[in-house]
Amino acid sequence: MSSGELEDTSLESEYEALLSFMYLSPVGLVRTDPRGNIDMLNPMATQLLMPLVSSQGLSNLFETLAAVAPELRNLVTSYRESSGSICLDHRIHVSSAADGGVVLACTIVKVNPEVLITVLTDLTLQVATERRLRQADSWLETIYTIVNDFAVLGLTKEGKINSWSPSVERLTGYTESEIIGESLNHFFNSPALGAHILTEHLTLAREEGWYSQDYSCRIKSGGNFFAQAMVAILREEDDEFSGYTVVFREIAERKVSSENLADMLTKDHLTGAINRAHFFNLAEKAFARAIRYEHSISILMLDADHFKDVNDNWGHLIGDEVLKSIVNVAEGVLRPGDTIARFGGEEFVVLLPLTNSLESSVIAERLRSSIEASHVKVGEMDIKITVSIGYASLGESRSTLKQLLSSADSALYRAKSKGRNCIVNID
Ligand code: GH3
Ligand code: MG
Ligand code: MG
Repeated sequence: MSSGELEDTSLESEYEALLSFMYLSPVGLVRTDPRGNIDMLNPMATQLLMPLVSSQGLSNLFETLAAVAPELRNLVTSYRESSGSICLDHRIHVSSAADGGVVLACTIVKVNPEVLITVLTDLTLQVATERRLRQADSWLETIYTIVNDFAVLGLTKEGKINSWSPSVERLTGYTESEIIGESLNHFFNSPALGAHILTEHLTLAREEGWYSQDYSCRIKSGGNFFAQAMVAILREEDDEFSGYTVVFREIAERKVSSENLADMLTKDHLTGAINRAHFFNLAEKAFARAIRYEHSISILMLDADHFKDVNDNWGHLIGDEVLKSIVNVAEGVLRPGDTIARFGGEEFVVLLPLTNSLESSVIAERLRSSIEASHVKVGEMDIKITVSIGYASLGESRSTLKQLLSSADSALYRAKSKGRNCIVNID
């Protein structure tokens, strides 16, 4: 074999590789002369240009694009260099928004005075996303600047304020420079319960995606206002957790009076059950008493079955009614010293002081069957819900509140895997 033959073979295989690149390329490639006459185009280019092709077929690129991008021919003729980029990602709107809003990006490269290569990319999805983002921006802008009782701010992963909108200044009186880098505690007024509530709030938001709670907040000039603070988590494109968005909504003044102040701090806004933070207050004390006096104490962990289906089938508002009804039924079944608390979204925990394992199984079963027998009426409809319950009692292997909660939680998990609508003891 001569060296000439070798060269031919490698040139040939390079040419073949180039051809298969053109063929498989996910962008449209068109080779034309300076007047736009096509001598080669790949399948993607044919596909992208197809909606524009007239009865004369696809022989001249500028003619094909004349109706939607008449400027192209001019761009090319006014380009004086013998080679280089004539245009870069020039946007061409192939069809109107009503017809699907197809948008192409067009890059034309002059390879030499006789050859142009045009690269066409489908930008339709990207443009639709940009439009949606602009829409969301304008909605947010409206909330920031016009709606009076809403305020939005951002927190870092560590819970420090990193963005501040005019709406928050309007609501609290604090300016951006006074607040950036601070924690939300800066304007929460909850001396009765302390800063751990906020940490708890952020933890719940991280676990559930969002969490909402009411706070008494202070304003710079010295007054107070009540706000519902909804915390949602922010994720980056790769789904990595990157911080929080907080939306404050001022709660109507008539709701705020000294007699319901305690309720607002200790109870769950939706169901009226004790909130998670206050549950820990009560449970720690009850636990200390049980240990000191060697009394029994038990915990039930209760989770609504297939609650997501309730929301999906009936909507969130009705989901909320179902949650209220669970608490209502439970309060009818429980004894005066027992406490039901809302632990997370559709998860509740019941504290049963002076109750041993046998007694707690009777209460758990009564709770389960009463909820199963209850109805939530919505118009003509009766919505049914069941719950799974795990329970655990103070004993030798479980001597702290944390251990008891974790045991009840494992039992609840077993109740779910046993088929739901049942009660399971840890032992
Ligand atoms: P499982 O039987 O395994 O517990 O199934 P599930 O559908 O109940 O469980 P999952 O945890 O997947 O869904 C719980 C749902 O509860 C998801 C969440 O959107 C909803 N949820 C949480 N908090 C609230 C609330 O305050 N109101 C309403 N309506 N829905 C809530
Ligand atoms: Mg559930
Ligand atoms: Mg759950």
